[in-house]
Amino acid sequence: MSNRQMKTDVILIGAGVMSATLGSLLKELVPSWKITVFEKLSSAGEESSNEWNNAGTGHAALCELNYTAQKPDGSIDISKAISVNEQFQVSMQFWSYLVKSNLIRNPQDFIMPIPHMSLVQGEQNVAFLKKRFEAMTSNPLFQGMEFSDDPAKLKEWIPLIMKDRPANEPVAATRIESGTDVNFGALTRMLFDHLKSKNVDIKFKHQVDDLKRTSDGLWELKVRNLDSGAVERHTARFVFIGGGGGSLPLLQKTGIPEGRHIGGFPISGLFMACNNPEVVSQHHAKVYGKAKVGAPPMSVPHLDTRFIDNKKSLLFGPFAGFSPKFLKTGSMFDLLGSVKTDNVMTMLAAGAKNLGLTKYLIQQVMLSKEQRMEELREFIPNAKSEDWDLLVAGQRVQVIKDTAAGKGTLQFGTEVVSASDGSVAALLGASPGASTAVSVMLEVIEKCFPQQLNAWAPKIKEMIPSYGVSLVKNPELVEKIHTSTERTLGLSSEPRSAKRA
Ligand SMILES: Cc1cc2nc3c(=O)[nH]c(=O)nc-3n(C[C@H](O)[C@H](O)[C@H](O)COP(=O)(O)OP(=O)(O)OC[C@H]3O[C@@H](n4cnc5c(N)ncnc54)[C@H](O)[C@@H]3O)c2cc1C
Repeated sequence: MSNRQMKTDVILIGAGVMSATLGSLLKELVPSWKITVFEKLSSAGEESSNEWNNAGTGHAALCELNYTAQKPDGSIDISKAISVNEQFQVSMQFWSYLVKSNLIRNPQDFIMPIPHMSLVQGEQNVAFLKKRFEAMTSNPLFQGMEFSDDPAKLKEWIPLIMKDRPANEPVAATRIESGTDVNFGALTRMLFDHLKSKNVDIKFKHQVDDLKRTSDGLWELKVRNLDSGAVERHTARFVFIGGGGGSLPLLQKTGIPEGRHIGGFPISGLFMACNNPEVVSQHHAKVYGKAKVGAPPMSVPHLDTRFIDNKKSLLFGPFAGFSPKFLKTGSMFDLLGSVKTDNVMTMLAAGAKNLGLTKYLIQQVMLSKEQRMEELREFIPNAKSEDWDLLVAGQRVQVIKDTAAGKGTLQFGTEVVSASDGSVAALLGASPGASTAVSVMLEVIEKCFPQQLNAWAPKIKEMIPSYGVSLVKNPELVEKIHTSTERTLGLSSEPRSAKRA
C-alpha cells in the first residue's frame, strides 16, 4: 500500500456529465489550472449519464406536463416551464460553442432532432392541454407548438399510438418539431476526450474514500486505486463532488455544516425497450403523457424514439423501482449508511410524510411484465409482449431536507450544496438532470468563484451569449439563439421564423 501525496488546483469526483461540463467550462476560463478527475469505474459516463440509463430527453419543457401546473383558478402556471427551457438554451449555447471551436466534433453523435409531444386522454385532460397550449404559445420560448384533437391529424403525427384506439375516446396532443434526443453518454465521453487532450489527468478505477480539510485550507482526498489497492493522498484548492447518487455520502464526509440535515432516497428507473424494428419504424417522436395520481413527477410515462449507436430505438417508461443502492454499481448498504445523527429526524419525517410514495413504489416493484404491458397499451393499444424487453436504467437519489414546507421534505430538483468559502461543492438530485448541466455548473462557478466572476464574465458571455439575460424578455435574442444553435448542432438549417411562416 503506497501513501503518495499529490497536489492539483481542481479535483472533480466522478466522470459523469456534470464533472465533464464543469471541467470543460473551467478549462475555457482558466486553461492553466491543473485538473484531476477520479472515477471509480473503468470509463466515463457509465452511471446515470449513460445513454441506456436515462431517457435522453433534452428537457426544454416542450412536452413534460409536470412543468405546467393548473392553478386553483383554472389558469396554467408556466413559470417552471420557462425556467427549464431557459436552462436548456444555456446548454445548447455551450454545446454550440464547443462545436464551433472544434473542441468537440460531430454533434449528430450526441444530439438529434425529434418532435416533442404531450398526449392526453379524456375530456378534462383535453381541456387542460388546450389551455396549456394557449398559455405556452403566447410565449416566445414555445413558438412553433401545434395542438390537435382531430384523430386524422393525430394519426399523421403518431400512427402507432392512434392505431386500434377506440374512436369514442377524446384524445389530444401538442407537437413541436424543435425537440431533441440527447445521448448524454456520448456527450460525456466526447467532453472527457476533449479534457484529456487539454492535459486533464483522468484517473479511472480510482475511488474517493474520504475528504478532509488540511491545516492550510486545502482539501485532502484519500483515493484508492482499485486495480492495485494502493492508497493515494491528493490535495486541491477546489473539489467538485460530481458522484451522481454517490455525491451525498462524500458530501457527508466533508463535514461542512451546509451538508448537514440532508438525506437521500434512491428511486430506480426501468424502461421497456422495443426489439421489433418494424414497430420501431412506425414511431418518430418523444410522447409524454400525464403522471398517475400519487406518482412522483419523474415517473411521467413516455414513449420515446431514441438514437443510440446510429440506430433508432423505442423506449417506454420509466417504471419506478426500489433498490437501497445510490448508484447502479453501488452497495446495498448505501441508504442505511447515509443515515447519520444529523439527518435521522429529517429522514424519519420524510418517511412518515411520504407514505403515498412508498405505497406507489411497492406497487411499481410488484408489477409483472403483463401489468407493465397494460400501461404501455395506454400508449400503443395493440402492443405485443414479445416485442418488448425490460431494461434497468439508472438510480436517482432524491434529496430530502428541511424546508419552509416542513421537516423532511422530498425534493425532486437538483441542488448545489457548497461550503461558505466555495472550496467544495456537491451536486445532489437528478431532475431535470443532464439537460441542465451547463446552467447548474455555472451555478457552481458563481457560488465557488465569486472573486473571479467579473474577470470571467466576458468569456462566459462569448460561450453563452444569453448568460445573465432573461430570454423570455428578449424575443429577438431567443430567435437568434434558436437559429444559431440549431444550425451549429445540425438540428436544422432554417431559421425558426422561416419554419413558422
Ligand atoms: C431513469 C432516468 C431517466 C433520466 N432521464 C433523463 C432525461 O431524459 N433527460 C435528462 O436531462 N436527464 C435525465 N436523467 C438524469 C440524468 O441522467 C442525470 O441528472 C445525470 O446523468 C447526472 O450526471 P452526474 O454526472 O451527476 O452523475 P453520473 O452520470 O451518475 O456520474 C457520477 C459518476 O461518479 C462516479 N462516482 C461516484 N462515487 C464515486 C467515488 N466515491 N469515487 C469515484 N467516482 C465516484 C460514478 O461511478 C459515476 O461515474 C435521468 C436519470 C434517470 C436515472
